[in-house]
Amino acid sequence: MKNISLEKAFWITHPDQKPGGTIDKEWPPFHSREVHIIPNDETLCVRKKFTLDESPISAHVCATALGIFDITVNGSRVGTVENGETVYDELKPGWTNYSKRVLSFTYDVTSLLRKGENTLAITVSTGWWNGRISRCLYGFKKNAAIAAASITLSSGREIKINTDSSWEALLGGCVRYADIYNGEYYDATFSDITSADEGFNIKNAEIFDGFTGVISPAEAPFIRVRKELERSPYSAVVYRGSIDNGSDYGEINIIKSAVGKDCERLSLKKGDSLVLDFMQNLVGRPSISVKAARGTKLEFFCAEFLNDSGLRSRGNDGPKGSAYIENYRSAMSRVVYVAAGDDDFERYYPKFSFYGFRYLELVCDGDVEIEYVKAEVIGSENREISTFECSNEEINRLYSNVLWGQRGNYLSIPTDCPQRDERLGWTGDTQVFCGAAAYNADVNGFFRKWLLDIRDSQTADGSIFDVIPASTWGRYDNASWSDAIIIVPLKIYQFFGDREMLKEHYPSLVKFMERLALYPLGERPNDYADWLAYEETSKGYISFATYANDLDLMSRIAATLSENEGDNYDLDAKKYRALFEDAKKKFNEKYVENGDLTERTQCTYLLALRFGLVDGELRENCIRALERKIIDNGYKLSTGFVGTGMLCQTLSEVGLDSLAYSLLMQSENPSWLYSLRQGATTVWERWNSYTLENGFGDVGMNSFNHYAYGAVFEWVFESVVGIARDPNVPAFKHFFIAPRPDMRSDSEIPEGQSRMTFARATYDSASGLIRCAWDMGDTGLTVKASVPEGTCATVKLPLACVKDRITVNAVETAYEKLDSCAVFELSAGDYVIKL
Ligand code: BGC
Repeated sequence: MKNISLEKAFWITHPDQKPGGTIDKEWPPFHSREVHIIPNDETLCVRKKFTLDESPISAHVCATALGIFDITVNGSRVGTVENGETVYDELKPGWTNYSKRVLSFTYDVTSLLRKGENTLAITVSTGWWNGRISRCLYGFKKNAAIAAASITLSSGREIKINTDSSWEALLGGCVRYADIYNGEYYDATFSDITSADEGFNIKNAEIFDGFTGVISPAEAPFIRVRKELERSPYSAVVYRGSIDNGSDYGEINIIKSAVGKDCERLSLKKGDSLVLDFMQNLVGRPSISVKAARGTKLEFFCAEFLNDSGLRSRGNDGPKGSAYIENYRSAMSRVVYVAAGDDDFERYYPKFSFYGFRYLELVCDGDVEIEYVKAEVIGSENREISTFECSNEEINRLYSNVLWGQRGNYLSIPTDCPQRDERLGWTGDTQVFCGAAAYNADVNGFFRKWLLDIRDSQTADGSIFDVIPASTWGRYDNASWSDAIIIVPLKIYQFFGDREMLKEHYPSLVKFMERLALYPLGERPNDYADWLAYEETSKGYISFATYANDLDLMSRIAATLSENEGDNYDLDAKKYRALFEDAKKKFNEKYVENGDLTERTQCTYLLALRFGLVDGELRENCIRALERKIIDNGYKLSTGFVGTGMLCQTLSEVGLDSLAYSLLMQSENPSWLYSLRQGATTVWERWNSYTLENGFGDVGMNSFNHYAYGAVFEWVFESVVGIARDPNVPAFKHFFIAPRPDMRSDSEIPEGQSRMTFARATYDSASGLIRCAWDMGDTGLTVKASVPEGTCATVKLPLACVKDRITVNAVETAYEKLDSCAVFELSAGDYVIKL
């Protein structure tokens, strides 16, 4: 793409636009059916009309904005032609730390321009810049845009267009309100602001000087509609009012219901409501085609669940069968469309907000004919690179839930949840899930950007906020949260091998460690402990252990970057190693007594084992104690975000594979399959966010799309299937084929569970396609593996599975016995291994 400089362009805005930004306290804590969007006509449009006296042979425009923006040329939306189709970047410019940086986008617009009159227009709404989500972090400021166009005419003459005060600025238009939390209000009775000759307070643009950061070109992955994931409703229910069912709110009065294809074309009468079920909690937007009289207002409510009874005691906020909306808290998450009243169907989708939902409830104040309502899925376009399947159908569904959690929450930044009034880059959630994410999709580019956001948000003294890009939400240097600055780049480097990224990031890590060193040992901030755990672990313990782990990881990163003995990285590696050893010694002095830890929760044992803080007999004791604790707890976990993020991984590391299987296949509360059995189609914030028995959980914090606990899929890939990265050889140039089949004896299998009999996965690694599949047949274990060209693998199979010999492609192979495993090497090729 041509490089267009913005150097000669000015940031411009409308002289009369009210500075945006709302203090969050201004909003009621919970939205409701009675709260509606009030249009404010503050959407900014800047545009330039110009005449070309010859046809253009090449034309490019580069633009960005403070606020979400969209570009049109002569009324047509600007996008990129890929494989013969125009695709659009949505929700541009995404979220960066706007105090430091905003991303620009360049497009080829040759085919949209013509000889004669042309109009280039940019529409800008609040977005992350001054919408509610910004919490005024960037100040009470207006929206603004900057753009430059370069056009070459058929004679070879070049025309340059830059934003300046000669541009027109307008306010309002069809987008009468837009905000990430609250949604979009679109009134199609208004004329097109990008071409209107009057109205909309047309003035000369005002130069805006409220941005002091840099403009960097955006790189892939872009935020796009994922066409292949689009959903049509599975079922539709039309209702009018409610009827008494003995509960507080009653139940909806159903007039009509439809399933499958029949839900596409529907007619609604004034006052009717329509509830659509897309069968999947997803993130994106409704896309509609409707016919209604001019001025008819259609209001869509988003919901992750439907009210199940009408009972307040079960957390319901409306009649049974209607949208349950309270858990969005103050985020109105609304789509309002006012019909133009065309003879034909009118098509619309919101461009300035995104929504997390499984259900849509439509309320309209006039008759409406619906051609379709679809759910378009939107997210950062991270190519999905794995497949997984095993003998347990519920685990297969869990994999799908984990994937959907990632699709929805990786939107410009890794968010905690995509629906309520948060949608923030919580660092704790990010660091626990990034390993699973790297198995699911190529997230290298996605995290390269986010690591830049971290650096842009780091304070001068090295502190790291809980939320990246920094927000007014949360604090900084919190144990397990801020550590994402170290954990994420190391993991992403191991998966994708981007050494330059690690190098570039290194100085900020050093600064962070200098900052942490100022806190007395065990006294770094820790607001969240083992967040949402069923068993409490002391904050001091977690602070201590995570700091020691930071030192260990720093030593590893420095050693990775070192090229020669004695270089600065090498010296750092030794320094951090010595500091780790010292912290470990002090940890043992403080937290060990009589051969056991003084604090005994599942989480304390996990941290001590995972972080290598206990050795020898003490380590053995900790393994046994952890095992006991889980068994005594009925084969159930008691950990929160921190412990669960490493739970099964650590159990396998210390030889407790069987226990890890029992946890994965557990279906009582708390467990992954428990949520699944309560109706989860994504991973939830709480295991019991909804229960069939008691209804909805605490509405104060109850997201049905919170990916953190999906971290278990890192373990599923590396240990259940056995495609495991080598931490010392990045990008899977060397890796392990190390399946740990379900070898639980009958007595080890908790009641209600059964043994997994096969598992298979493919992983399109940074070095090529890896396959691994195992099957525990009657005759023994068979493993099929593919090792891509240019890579090699070490195979590690449980010795307990070896009957008398191992054959590889029908030829007996020699192996070494190591840590209860049969170990041998494979070069590139396809293999059938029989034990
Ligand atoms: C978020 C979490 C986050 C946490 C901090 C919550 O409100 O949704 O996922 O990590 O705050 O503890």
